[in-house]
Amino acid sequence: MRGPYRNVILLIVDGLRPDAVTSRHMPALTDLFHRGWRAQAAVTVRPSVTVAALTSLATGVSPARHGLCDTGLRSLGRIRGLRPLPSELRHLGVGTAVITAPLSGAARRMAGALLRLGGVDRLVPAPAAPGVLMDVALSHVDGNRSREFVVVYLDDADVAGHAWGWMSPAYLQAVATIDRALEKLRALAEDPAALVIVTADHGGGGVLPQDHDHRHPLNDAIPVGMLGGRVMPGLVSPEPVRLLDIPPTVLHSFGGTAPQEYEGRVIHEAFMSELVYV
Ligand SMILES: [Zn+2]
Repeated sequence: MRGPYRNVILLIVDGLRPDAVTSRHMPALTDLFHRGWRAQAAVTVRPSVTVAALTSLATGVSPARHGLCDTGLRSLGRIRGLRPLPSELRHLGVGTAVITAPLSGAARRMAGALLRLGGVDRLVPAPAAPGVLMDVALSHVDGNRSREFVVVYLDDADVAGHAWGWMSPAYLQAVATIDRALEKLRALAEDPAALVIVTADHGGGGVLPQDHDHRHPLNDAIPVGMLGGRVMPGLVSPEPVRLLDIPPTVLHSFGGTAPQEYEGRVIHEAFMSELVYV
């Protein structure tokens, strides 16, 4: 099967460190990564904070360019001049949906503003429990009649990291709960029309055990893995991968090309060569 994907699902696990993705702590995700493609090492943007990273995913450019690094709305105007991923996808006839548990306070206002500026079509509210949230996400994808980019956001690991420390027993327990929810992705792993990208916005525990915003390799490191019927099975890519490579890869998966200002590259090595289309 050639041609663009029908659904691309981007799963963002807030604060998931790549060294937590082991057969001991996350057996389901580890197995899915072994069957699909994953980066040996990948990094997020700096500063390694959620708003900066999510805005980079939404706009294809680094925080130095988009300027959004906290939940204050002052600098939001700067992204007006950019070319958000959902708007680029709309030119290809692809919608964007975001599935997340209810957010509170500043995060909620920020998300709402970003969604409006970014051109997201649908915000699908879901319960906070990872297993139920994944059920909502998968039945949404299942019921899709048109092509769609579906972003799923889980914050439990970050919450546990701030409360108890990254890689603490409570953090690893939160990670294990997320892993049981991710087991449900197995249904999509063989689907040639679906691409699932699993990543995090940042790591944590570098410099301060309960934080992630300082410049430190443990805060920069994120997992990046892909599943789906057309992903290279069992490949660990030694090529350097960045969070900023995800937006061009999403556009490519729907048959599009990233605007010149996008800073990342298409992760071509993740896909089976005979199925590459340009
Ligand atoms: Zn955090």
